[in-house]
Amino acid sequence: MKVFAISLGCPKNTIDTEEALGSLGSTNSGVKLTNNLQEADLLIVNTCGFIEEAVSESIDTILAVAKEKTDGQILVVMGCLVQRYGKDLKRELPEVDIFLGTGSPRSLVSLVEEQAIQQVESPCSRILTTPPWRAYVKISEGCSNRCTYCLIPMLRGKEISRPITEIVSEINSLVSKGVKEITLVAQDLTAYRNDGKTLADLLETLVEDTDSPWLRLLYLNPGKVNTKLLETIAANAVICPYLDVPIQHANTNILRSMGRRYDNKYIEDLMSRIGSLLPHVSVRTTVMVGFPGETEDDFQSLRNFVEKWEFDHLGCFIYSDEKECAANNLPGKVPPDTAMMRKDEIMSLQARISRAKKSDMVGRVEQVLVEGVSSETELLLVGRTRHQAPEIDGIVYLNKGTADYGDIVTVKITDSHVYDLVGEII
Ligand code: SF4
Repeated sequence: MKVFAISLGCPKNTIDTEEALGSLGSTNSGVKLTNNLQEADLLIVNTCGFIEEAVSESIDTILAVAKEKTDGQILVVMGCLVQRYGKDLKRELPEVDIFLGTGSPRSLVSLVEEQAIQQVESPCSRILTTPPWRAYVKISEGCSNRCTYCLIPMLRGKEISRPITEIVSEINSLVSKGVKEITLVAQDLTAYRNDGKTLADLLETLVEDTDSPWLRLLYLNPGKVNTKLLETIAANAVICPYLDVPIQHANTNILRSMGRRYDNKYIEDLMSRIGSLLPHVSVRTTVMVGFPGETEDDFQSLRNFVEKWEFDHLGCFIYSDEKECAANNLPGKVPPDTAMMRKDEIMSLQARISRAKKSDMVGRVEQVLVEGVSSETELLLVGRTRHQAPEIDGIVYLNKGTADYGDIVTVKITDSHVYDLVGEII
């Protein structure tokens, strides 16, 4: 069966798409991915419904695919948008054949079966949509935190951690297929609990029982980053020296009304602890501006925090009103243009910090995972260091030496730009 799939939103959604494809792969006919919509038998759009912007992008994508759909093709719409607006979507989008919410991507095969095919009993594995040398692995589903601006607990349910044995066998199966970089993801990685085992325990088991050359962690809730976790990361070279800790803000009043269970003093201490336990680590964070009630002084305290701690990577989002969220009823809405000005100010500050941080890396020797050729010229290979996460951080341009895609090579960093590096394979 030929399948054309579009996966919107976060890496957790990417995994759901891959599991849905994997379930189809267990059928008699098996599955073949195609980028050519016209030749596909099955069209899949895995949606995001997190904020208004994502909702519009998802609907635009569904309508664009539906417009190209021809008789005999099956159109599947799955994911958070279906979880959020299921009934309305069914009424508004008659051209869609199958709707599937979150939480059971592997049930797609039975839904498609009802539409067209035979099934045989066999375990199904994911069909990667990422390049074959890297993969995301979800260690839990859902979230039990209650940040006042976030819909995810409503869309994905409360946090449920996967058994350690299941995660170990999935990673070993991926590594046996050539995957070099495993990125662990969840809504809140630090909430991991299985049989009393924490994230730090899971990492020790993965280091022990799997052969993944690179293990990367995304989505660490700052409020739960404890010393044991930092020491576990420091003690194991397999774990990339990379911490993704989305602080969201730095002002205690705003953090409180966001429902983030930490304050300014806590994150100041956390940054000091990270600096002393992991001096060579790269830190990524995410901040939100324009949250209801955010005054110019509140914003300045965030700006000063970003300037003081100099994150290696930073994403900044503007608060978005979602009617199902508690924050929607908070007073003191920030005018959109003020919020945009604040975002621009944070991002231009971060560009200066990033340029300085990248130039500090010139002269260093780093491991680089080669990922392909530059989009600018085929003469240049590109890759990422252990300090750069896939799809969200900068890259390394390799202007000397040869390597195959998926190779991990040793590189001398010779130059830098605002977000990217330049180096030669040695
Ligand atoms: S930690 Fe907060 S922001 Fe993140 S998914 Fe959970 S509720 Fe949403």
